[in-house]
Amino acid sequence: MRDLNRLTGSTFDVLVVGGGIYGLTIAYDAAQRGLSVALVERDDFGSGASFNHLRTIHGGLRYLQRLDLARARQSIRERRTLARIAPHSVRPLPFALPLYRSVVRGKSVMRAGFLLDRVIAAGRNRGLAASHRLPAGRVVGRGTAVQRFPGLKRHGLTGAAVFYDYVTIESDRLTFSYALAAAEHGAALANHLDAIAPLTDPADKRRVAGIRARDMVGGRELEIKATVTVNATGSAIDRLLEPLARKHSAAGPRSDGTCFSCPGANGQSSVRGSRTGRSTPATLQMIRAISSRSLPN
Ligand SMILES: Cc1cc2nc3c(=O)[nH]c(=O)nc-3n(C[C@H](O)[C@H](O)[C@H](O)COP(=O)(O)OP(=O)(O)OC[C@H]3O[C@@H](n4cnc5c(N)ncnc54)[C@H](O)[C@@H]3O)c2cc1C
Repeated sequence: MRDLNRLTGSTFDVLVVGGGIYGLTIAYDAAQRGLSVALVERDDFGSGASFNHLRTIHGGLRYLQRLDLARARQSIRERRTLARIAPHSVRPLPFALPLYRSVVRGKSVMRAGFLLDRVIAAGRNRGLAASHRLPAGRVVGRGTAVQRFPGLKRHGLTGAAVFYDYVTIESDRLTFSYALAAAEHGAALANHLDAIAPLTDPADKRRVAGIRARDMVGGRELEIKATVTVNATGSAIDRLLEPLARKHSAAGPRSDGTCFSCPGANGQSSVRGSRTGRSTPATLQMIRAISSRSLPN
């Protein structure tokens, strides 16, 4: 699979930098459309955030919270596609969100949310085997919630919002199968190849024409040329953009979401998330405060 000479031998239609789940699915998608595709990954395929996630294949229920219907619809479609093309990799999993007396996260709001979800996700099971059909979300009362989910904190509990998504069983296999599928469709993939700088088009310095990469195994540097270069480097996205941002005053560093784990009240680890367009000082302060409490010195 790792053929460095092939990477430098021609100009590709698409060059993907980063072999996480995003990069690999982009490479697979582009290759199966008949485009010539190259992908480079600094470490190993799927070794970044795509290794450390919570394994949920979700249908965008969270996007309904901010009425982003287009994104919710897209998530439902993609979730169904995954269940159709890789049924061996996913299975339905029920989730329970405990509900307490609250105007914004109480029973009525959740019922309204599920009603909207029923309309938007009406086709969620189209073409799927019975084993992979997801029931619609619903709100259950306090008694049922306590009976079905005995671990819920009971003080002030009014019920639970129960909904279904998929969980990946062997997520690394799923990630790697995208690498294999992309290669089967002719993509040239190489791991342990660090993209160190974008190449710019000599005729138009604002256009990226590929990347310069360093082979982490042999130490050699090489230039990979492409008509379109996709930066799918996840949390490292700014590193490749930096030289361009300096030259063309593009947007500075940004992050779209942050997850971190900290000890819960009962001593168990829990994962908390924060979603912002940019890492605001408040978010960073919160992360610092919590990490200083949860990380060993
Ligand atoms: C704690 C946690 C829980 C999550 N749970 C879920 C979940 O349950 N469900 C869900 O859908 N999502 C979840 N997510 C989000 C999900 O993990 C990410 O959206 C997804 O993995 C991002 O994939 P990616 O390909 O963008 O990034 P990554 O998987 O990080 O891939 C980026 C790749 O780029 C490579 N790279 C970086 N720089 C270079 C370079 N210069 N040259 C070459 N390669 C480079 C890296 O080595 C890496 O492999 C979770 C995230 C976290 C942190």
